[in-house]
Amino acid sequence: MPCIFCDIPTERIVWQDELVFAIRDAFPVTEGHTLLIPKRHVATWFEATEAEQRALMRGLDAAKAQLDATEAPDGYNIGINAGAAAGQTVMHLHVHLIPRRTGDVDDPRGGVRHVIPGKGNYLGRGHD
Ligand code: AMP
Ligand code: ZN
Repeated sequence: MPCIFCDIPTERIVWQDELVFAIRDAFPVTEGHTLLIPKRHVATWFEATEAEQRALMRGLDAAKAQLDATEAPDGYNIGINAGAAAGQTVMHLHVHLIPRRTGDVDDPRGGVRHVIPGKGNYLGRGHD
C-alpha cells in the first residue's frame, strides 16, 4: 500500500539499516525532530515484527547519537501515535524522536502526558 513514507526520496534519509530508515520531520515540533520508519509498510507498532521493533529502537539510538553530536539538546521525547484516535495522521508506523532544550516551554513536566491537554502535569495541578 503506497503512502508518503513508502515514497521518501533517498537523499532525505539521514540513517538506515536493512529494516528501518530515519528522516527529519517535514513539520518539526523542534529543531532536529526525526522520524524512525520501517521500510515495510505497516500501520502501527503492533503490526511490526519483533525484528522491526528492535531495528526501530536501534535507529532511535543512532539518530540520538547524531543529534547529540550536531545539536547537543538537553533531552528528548520519544513517541508513537498508534491509530487515528491517538492522533496518527500518516498510517505508516513511525517513531517520533523530538529533541528538547531547557526552557523551550515554561514547564516541561509531564512531557508525553500532554497528549491529553490539561492532563500532562500531575505535579503542578494541586491535590484534591
Ligand atoms: P503522526 O501524526 O504521528 O502520524 O505524524 C506524522 C508526522 O509526519 C508529522 O510529524 C508530520 O509533520 C510528518 N510528515 C508529514 N508528511 C511528511 C513528509 N512528506 N516528510 C516528512 N515528514 C512528514
Ligand atoms: Zn507506507
